[in-house]
Amino acid sequence: MLIDVHCHLNLYLNIEEVLQEAQRNGIEKIIAVSMSQISLQRVMEISEHYDMIYPALGIHPEEIKMNEKLEQNLENILTYIRAKKDDICAIGEIGLDHHFIKDNSLYPLQTKVFEAMLSLAHELQLPVNLHTKGAEKEVFDLLPSFDIPHVNIHWYSGPAVYLDQGIERGYFFSITPAIQYSPAVKKVVERVDKDLLLLESDGPVKYSGRVGVPAMIKEVLDVVSQLKNIDKEELQAQIEKNTRTIFPNVFFD
Ligand SMILES: [Zn+2]
Repeated sequence: MLIDVHCHLNLYLNIEEVLQEAQRNGIEKIIAVSMSQISLQRVMEISEHYDMIYPALGIHPEEIKMNEKLEQNLENILTYIRAKKDDICAIGEIGLDHHFIKDNSLYPLQTKVFEAMLSLAHELQLPVNLHTKGAEKEVFDLLPSFDIPHVNIHWYSGPAVYLDQGIERGYFFSITPAIQYSPAVKKVVERVDKDLLLLESDGPVKYSGRVGVPAMIKEVLDVVSQLKNIDKEELQAQIEKNTRTIFPNVFFD
């Protein structure tokens, strides 16, 4: 079974088609991650509508520049997520971003929101799905203060030193279709052992001009299998096992 552990499904206009294409390619489950305050409800709605979708709720670090009322609404957001705790599989997509967000006057609030999300994951004992772009050190320094069951680092492209620290701490790394061309993603696949790898589309992000969709994780599996020189069936079974370990709620039906 193939599982896409990170997709922004609420952003597709043709979701029905995207899901059918996924199924034709053997993708049986998809984790829909939220980003914005308004996406929380939308992600819940689509997951109620389609059996193969499992929701993760959280606030993305770039929401800081999109939503002027984020700080004011933070308590309401936390209350909303708490109320959905039995229906979600993770807290995500959350994290810090110092790459796309250059205005460092926004960093204190970004950190405040991230810490609130990590506390919530600790409180609810849910895994987290993390964005770390340009803030790998800051994210890795914060994590040990929280007792979180498992950590998924999504699309890692930062320095090797934190990659190695993540591996040592047993974090799971999800690999995107950027594996086709990105040296940074190739490095992650080379260094991370097969028992810490996951697959994700991060759709609808574009890859070399193609809109990312869950169906693409089948190609990601092919490339990872070649790079690691592991038989495809064996690797697929291992990645499914990893996904069960980190996101157990995706397998309770
Ligand atoms: Zn994402």
